[in-house]
Amino acid sequence: MKLPMTGGCLCGAVRYQILAEPVGAGNCHCRTCQKSVGAAYVPVLFVLYDALKITGNYKEYATTADSGNTMNRGFCPECGSALFGRNSATNKIRPVNAATLDEPGIYKPHMNFWLSAAQPWDVIDPNLPKFEKNPLHL
Ligand SMILES: [Zn+2]
Ligand SMILES: [Zn+2]
Repeated sequence: MKLPMTGGCLCGAVRYQILAEPVGAGNCHCRTCQKSVGAAYVPVLFVLYDALKITGNYKEYATTADSGNTMNRGFCPECGSALFGRNSATNKIRPVNAATLDEPGIYKPHMNFWLSAAQPWDVIDPNLPKFEKNPLHL
């Protein structure tokens, strides 16, 4: 993928750049992700911590992952777009919501995870690896 990747919230108050190739990509179908975006899943890019440069003031709220770790979910306080996260278990990678990229078509998921919580009206690519929960245990 061409670097940097750029993205931001719907209103433009919060912008970000991804400076290094993401280390992974997958669709999370967990209930918390579903609620946080109001959709069947979140398309997640796993980005190295130092490779995510954020401008603008975003807010976070804390959710508890199945692992017991805290996932701080970053969003724009003006428009509410769900942008990226910060998991208490790691300071190496951060999840970024690929639907907020300026060119979201460059996102290529490598897996589907949390399929145990997927909705019956969700369409799952049968050719991608499937995981009942989070294979990264984050
Ligand atoms: Zn915004
Ligand atoms: Zn999730």
